[in-house]
Amino acid sequence: MPVPGLAPYDPNNIFARILRAEIPCRKVFENQHALAFHDINPQAPTHILVIPKNPYVSIADFTALASDAEIAGLLRALTHIARLLNLDTTGYRILANMGHHAGQEVPHLHFHLFAGHNLGPMLANAG
Ligand code: 5GP
Repeated sequence: MPVPGLAPYDPNNIFARILRAEIPCRKVFENQHALAFHDINPQAPTHILVIPKNPYVSIADFTALASDAEIAGLLRALTHIARLLNLDTTGYRILANMGHHAGQEVPHLHFHLFAGHNLGPMLANAG
C-alpha cells in the first residue's frame, strides 16, 4: 500500500534487481531482513549499503508500513555489520537519504555505512 505523498515502489529499481540477483553485488551480509553490499562508487574507504529485503521506497514508508520485527532487524543488521567489519573502535557514520532535497537516487530504502577515515563534517555545506 503506497504512502500518501510518496511515489509508489518501482519494482525495477536497481536495488530490487540486486535483491532478485538479476545484477551482481559485492555482498557483505544477508539475513531474513537485510542485505548489505559494497557501494559501486565508494565515498569513503568503507562504504556499505544496507537495504531491507522487502520493497520500501524510503525511511518514510518503511517506518509507516514495516513490521516491528523488520524495523528492528534492519537496525540491528546495521550495527552487526559494523561490528563484523571491526568498526566499533574507530567509529562510523550511518546516513539515509529521503527524497529530492536529500539527493536520494535509488528509490529503495538504503542506509549508507561509511567508515575507514575521519569522515569530516556531517554536511558538505556545513558552516
Ligand atoms: P542515494 O543517493 O540514493 O542515497 O545513494 C545511492 C547509492 O547507490 C550511491 O552511493 C550509488 O553509488 C549506489 N549505487 C547505484 N547503483 C548501484 C549499483 O548498481 N550497485 C551498487 N553496489 N551500488 C549502486
